[in-house]
Amino acid sequence: MCIFCKIINKEIPSDFLFENGDVVAFKDIHPKAKTHILIVPKKHIETIKDLKEDEADEVLVGKMVLVAQDIAKGLKLDGYQLLFNVGRSAGQEVMHIHLHLMSHQ
Ligand code: 5GP
Ligand code: ZN
Repeated sequence: MCIFCKIINKEIPSDFLFENGDVVAFKDIHPKAKTHILIVPKKHIETIKDLKEDEADEVLVGKMVLVAQDIAKGLKLDGYQLLFNVGRSAGQEVMHIHLHLMSHQ
């Protein structure tokens, strides 16, 4: 099982900033900005390249962005970056899709 699946299954204790049936969010262990949060779907999908053109994946990615928006709003962030690293050659280390929410605020 991948490290993010273990976090999602609470085999590795972590503080979730958000959890619902589809998505969790937690702080990055090695923050690269003052605020650095990962938004992760509960469904194990290795990379953005593996997304299917079906409604379920369409909705899931939309939910991830809306969770990021909601967390940013809660933290009163004015500006922030949302980033997917796609594939090892682009620097993706954890092969379970995740959206980086980063802000210098
Ligand atoms: P990637 O390079 O795959 O886009 O990003 C993976 C991110 O996950 C990195 O920023 C890394 O610091 C973070 N990370 C890796 N392992 C763990 C972990 O066990 N817990 C948390 N909270 N973050 C992790
Ligand atoms: Zn996984």
